[in-house]
Amino acid sequence: MSNLDRRPVPSLCGGRGFVAAEPVRELLSPRKVQLGGSTEVRRLLPNLGRRMVGAWAFVDHYGPDDIADEPGMQVAPHPHMGLQTVSWLHQGEVLHRDSTGSLATIRPRELGLMTSGRAISHSEESPRSHARFLHGAQLWVALPDAHRHTEPHFQHHADLPRVTAPGLTATVILGELDGAASPGTTYTPLVGADLTLAHGAQVSVPLDPDFEYAVLSMSGEAHVDGVPLLPGSMLYLGCGRTELPLRAESDAGLMLLGGEPFEEELVMFWNWIGRSQEEIAQAREDWMNGTRFGEVKGYDGAPIPAPELPATRLKPRGRTR
Ligand code: MN
Repeated sequence: MSNLDRRPVPSLCGGRGFVAAEPVRELLSPRKVQLGGSTEVRRLLPNLGRRMVGAWAFVDHYGPDDIADEPGMQVAPHPHMGLQTVSWLHQGEVLHRDSTGSLATIRPRELGLMTSGRAISHSEESPRSHARFLHGAQLWVALPDAHRHTEPHFQHHADLPRVTAPGLTATVILGELDGAASPGTTYTPLVGADLTLAHGAQVSVPLDPDFEYAVLSMSGEAHVDGVPLLPGSMLYLGCGRTELPLRAESDAGLMLLGGEPFEEELVMFWNWIGRSQEEIAQAREDWMNGTRFGEVKGYDGAPIPAPELPATRLKPRGRTR
């Protein structure tokens, strides 16, 4: 998905300074972002108090929206660089097209993983004939310096590994959980997992104490390390944990996001992650000139123009404000 905010605030993140070395329970409230029309998303990352969790640098939660009589998601071609996008659905489907020629329909609990590397463009839309409800999350993973200029590519994995325990089914989206590894390519040590909990479930999920973690609630009511979490909110958990206790007060859907704290400092603007003002300005110029980011074929509509750069200079800084 594109960051469709027409006045995006530059986000300066990365660096080790603000990682919680010890377990914490920090509730992150969503910021509501209007995506045009009636579509509204809840933005959890970047957040006022926290920009990243491991290499996870962007998290939007959307739906469930009733799109029975509507076109649904219509995100025209837009560019990315320096990141991977993860499309994750609980309901509905998204048709993905990109400038490498990919054409894929992503369905619930399938991984759509796009590695932008140095430059890619893509569109995302609800297919003409679609399910009534659309519910999902759009996430970005920052690429480390050694890999951020890699060739762009897209992976679609419909069959992901699962880990089960009484009352819990965990689908491994990226990285590894309890010995089960996702086939999705990663460039820093991280994990993303979808946790489906049955009403009344009381389970513990094994964690890596060197990772920092957060949990996003997608549906239902679950207590995460004792903290009640409602859909559209996220709990930051810090580092130093070997397990995470969960209790479901209803059937519930969560996303577990974690990773080694991301050391590099970043400049994030619109749909790009770079390291300097100059890089971002160059990306903007290239997109507006129609160079470098390729062409998305088959989308019925014009590409999204880049917003103006802010008057103030973008400088990379720490992970939080
Ligand atoms: Mn996008």
